[in-house]
Amino acid sequence: MAEQSFNIPVAKPWMDDREVAAASRPILSGWVTQGPEVAAFEREFAELVGAPHACAVANCTVALHLALLAVGTRPGDEIITVSHSFIATANSVRYCQATPVFVDIQPYTYNMDPLRIERVITPKTRAILCVHQMGMPCDMASILEVARRHSLPVIEDAACATGSELRWQGAWEKIGKPHGDIACFSFHPRKVVTTGDGGMLTTAHPEWDKQFRMWRQHTMSVPDTVRHGAREVIFESYPALGYNYRMTDIQAAVGREQLKRLPEIIARRREVAQRYREGLATIPGLSLPHEPEWARSNWQSFCVRLPDQCDQRQVMQDMLDAGVATRRGIMCAHREPAYQQEPWSCGKGPGNCNCPSGTCAELAESEQAQDKGLLLPLYTQITTEEQDYVIARLAQACARAGAS
Ligand SMILES: *Cc1c(COP(=O)(O)O)cnc(C)c1O
Repeated sequence: MAEQSFNIPVAKPWMDDREVAAASRPILSGWVTQGPEVAAFEREFAELVGAPHACAVANCTVALHLALLAVGTRPGDEIITVSHSFIATANSVRYCQATPVFVDIQPYTYNMDPLRIERVITPKTRAILCVHQMGMPCDMASILEVARRHSLPVIEDAACATGSELRWQGAWEKIGKPHGDIACFSFHPRKVVTTGDGGMLTTAHPEWDKQFRMWRQHTMSVPDTVRHGAREVIFESYPALGYNYRMTDIQAAVGREQLKRLPEIIARRREVAQRYREGLATIPGLSLPHEPEWARSNWQSFCVRLPDQCDQRQVMQDMLDAGVATRRGIMCAHREPAYQQEPWSCGKGPGNCNCPSGTCAELAESEQAQDKGLLLPLYTQITTEEQDYVIARLAQACARAGAS
């Protein structure tokens, strides 16, 4: 085994005394959920991304569930999305008893290929659910062009994309403005800003925003804030089925602190990504992620593509032995047992895919990206020495794989 001179994780949240102080505010105030911190976090997030409305929820998975419900997703509907994503994307479709229809990705942005959307649209299609994978903005202009032509709503899975930007009609705009109809964000520790767990929905539709606020609180007709301040007795009612998808004020207070750091976080992540770009350019056969000229990624993850002769597991093990944690390419939902046995569809149409279990010819780019992708350590506090060590180790692991 190689000497372990470093111990480099793949990701690390950036939090310190400022978040501790923020969390203590609601704790000492006695109001710890659905109170003033949540309201302020929503306002500040909306302002940051330029969205008319922002509604905080427990995590991004439930945000996606509510977004799908808002656009009217019913059992048996089809939602066009990607398999190449964290399983939460496809799972949210199944919470509605709808069928995820998977389209393939573009190989170097790792995002939905807009050219593949139209041919999977059927009378049952309810919406398009695109993913800004690893923080790289989707080709929203092309996706929206198809969607508008077929009068389909677009939901953006922006779990990884807080702070990412898209050039839109000549100006740089934040993901979440929203460009589609609803955007859903995650504040899990693996994303660029964190509240432990947490999520946010942004939209330009006031009636949907109102609906999200009802659903997250079991559709309770009178918010806690109103009952608390009332001089008269008020009885609440529950007009429809709802959920407990609330965010706490402790989380929101931490989130507000994290948002203040966002410009610094993004600047640093882009700097780290640039150093990888320069340092990795000389490794033969290694491919780097593509940032289109109309996109500015927050580099939630930096995914390289290993040379053909490199065994992914071996490279990852070599790196781990040297003290460097990596992850393989983003998973594909259709290859998981939870999907192999359940309804999903690919470009061949619902139920018509005869590919062997765990593979699908229609989703070849997605599978390649999972099997040849390698996510490198990237976080605000990574040092230049650590990063150069990662680059050197990867060069060595690839050279070893090429020689064997
Ligand atoms: C992390 C992630 C989610 C789920 O977010 P949670 O907040 O953990 O529920 C959904 N979609 C994508 C693309 C993600 O990366």
